[in-house]
Amino acid sequence: RHYGESELSRCAGCDELIFSKKYTKAEDQFWHLKHFCCFECDCVLADSSYVMENSKPVCVPCYTKKYAQCCQACQNAIAPDAQHVSFGNFSWHASPSCFRCSGCGCSLCGERFLPHQTMLFCSVTCKKSLVS
Ligand SMILES: [Zn+2]
Ligand SMILES: [Zn+2]
Ligand SMILES: [Zn+2]
Ligand SMILES: [Zn+2]
Repeated sequence: RHYGESELSRCAGCDELIFSKKYTKAEDQFWHLKHFCCFECDCVLADSSYVMENSKPVCVPCYTKKYAQCCQACQNAIAPDAQHVSFGNFSWHASPSCFRCSGCGCSLCGERFLPHQTMLFCSVTCKKSLVS
């Protein structure tokens, strides 16, 4: 009996049919376990989390090292699954200790804010106190 190609999936990495019962489905495509790996360090990504960066899968440690945005407030990398706020080229952790007024320090999470370069302000009054 001949098995048609339709019963097997084709690996999006090497373009060969996948005969193994173990494979990865990611980004709406099928992959041999070892063909879905981090673009940076080649670690196998099956069962671990990854981030698509320029259509290439990258493991979370590599992402954090090479691609993650740094929080303007605490200067730490923002994890790919972390809540964050971006404005222009800048990003902040969406936490009261990072995303807050540069003047009075009040949390700006979910609030209106006035950006000035890398600073954020809750009000014109706070902005005037630091920026002339
Ligand atoms: Zn493959
Ligand atoms: Zn990696
Ligand atoms: Zn931060
Ligand atoms: Zn303020």
